[in-house]
Amino acid sequence: MKYSNPIQIWEAALGSLELQVSRPSYATWLKGTVGLFFNDNKMVVGAPSSFVAQWLEQRMSSLVEATLSQVTGQPATIRFQVLTEPSLHTVNQMEPQALPAQLIRPANGRAASNEPRSIKLNPKYTLDSFVVGESNQLAHAAAVAVSSRPGIAYNPLFLYGGVGLGKTHLLHGIGHASAGKGLSCLYVSSEQFTNEFITAIQLKRTGEFREKYRSVDVLLMDDIQFMRGKEAIQEGFFHTFNDLHNSNRQIVIACDRPSSALAPLEDRLRSRFQWGLSADIRMPDIETRKAILEVKASSMGVGVPDKVLDLISEHFLSSIRDLEGALNRVCAYADLTDQPLGLDLAYQSLGDLLTTKQKKRPSAEVVISRVCVFYNVDAQALRSKRRDKKVTFARQVAVYLLRELTNMSLKDIGFLVGNRDHTTIRHAWAKIVEDKDSNSALKAQLGALYEDIEDSLSE
Ligand code: ADP
Ligand code: MG
Repeated sequence: MKYSNPIQIWEAALGSLELQVSRPSYATWLKGTVGLFFNDNKMVVGAPSSFVAQWLEQRMSSLVEATLSQVTGQPATIRFQVLTEPSLHTVNQMEPQALPAQLIRPANGRAASNEPRSIKLNPKYTLDSFVVGESNQLAHAAAVAVSSRPGIAYNPLFLYGGVGLGKTHLLHGIGHASAGKGLSCLYVSSEQFTNEFITAIQLKRTGEFREKYRSVDVLLMDDIQFMRGKEAIQEGFFHTFNDLHNSNRQIVIACDRPSSALAPLEDRLRSRFQWGLSADIRMPDIETRKAILEVKASSMGVGVPDKVLDLISEHFLSSIRDLEGALNRVCAYADLTDQPLGLDLAYQSLGDLLTTKQKKRPSAEVVISRVCVFYNVDAQALRSKRRDKKVTFARQVAVYLLRELTNMSLKDIGFLVGNRDHTTIRHAWAKIVEDKDSNSALKAQLGALYEDIEDSLSE
């Protein structure tokens, strides 16, 4: 069997169920569930309420069992339980020795009772090694402020941005700086938090769990989006958050989207995130990308010609992780083939990556004009102060697409659509990010616009 713990098995089953049931049905009944226990082909799944548990038990058991059997390769039976204290009691009754080994230990491999300490911080991810440019300036400044006055400056600090743009790097950086001041700090992904929470409940160690999380000076919680739809986990985190916040301990959260676009996440948790400071991280401009490569090359002790750095920073536009990957690839290629590191070799080693990454970006004019045609709105109106529904909506879509497709700053986008300030623009963008997951008509419109704009690039 590919999967070895109940969480993974259930996640795999959910992936397949999502394709088999309707969207609303998945969202209503399956989304907040979590795999609790799997042994002897029996699976126990936690559901957020007794209503959901009952419904699943009565109406979906056979579909779920068939899916589970496919995932595990053996016939399986299923039982649903409520993820609240009284019914978790039943889970508590299960003999710990019957639990799979992975669940007895928390995900980080330490007993849940261990004292918190700075764990698994990557020594390379410091605040000093983080290259600052316009796209990440606010996030970096906030990280520095929080490190110098933990619990006081901005609490919580909420960092958000796409994959591979430096969120984890900044969390670790804050961790190093705080640990350097003698503060206890704990870095944890929300996936790990979830695993530990469930294990603690199963092994009746909730007291130790609470103690571990609530005694730290700085809690660094990565990838909070993983908690979406997991209500029991959010509940656990909500209490941890409040305890820490009430005693002025610092909380830093990283997420792949703004907190306003975090639905479904309990409102009270989302509103907590807005208490402090939110800072976004975007893909850096070309100069900053090059500066990052320079730092990286010198830390590897490799002299990389300027032209090669230019080539890489021109072509890798969506994540710093890819940018670094390209540099590593070029260096490894030079090393392995024993050739001098130059432009020819860079083209050779990056060949296929360059063609796929070499995506042309549309101009702002193209984006705006396509949106206007699509929604039958006058471009003049889009740039005006008009706030009627139709124009406002088209403007929001234009802002969203400009931000996603052109690499323009919020300020520049604001200037283009009627000289609006960057907070208004951020709000317009976040609105579409938030709506597009739940509004299938909007999703389809965005898809059509993407295609339309893409076509215009090859014209
Ligand atoms: P995320 O958590 O946002 O997905 P990471 O923090 O894992 O991204 O960053 C991916 C890689 O890019 C890491 O190796 C990180 O050190 C590097 N990186 C990202 N931003 C910067 C930056 N501004 N300066 C230096 N390195 C960066
Ligand atoms: Mg990360």
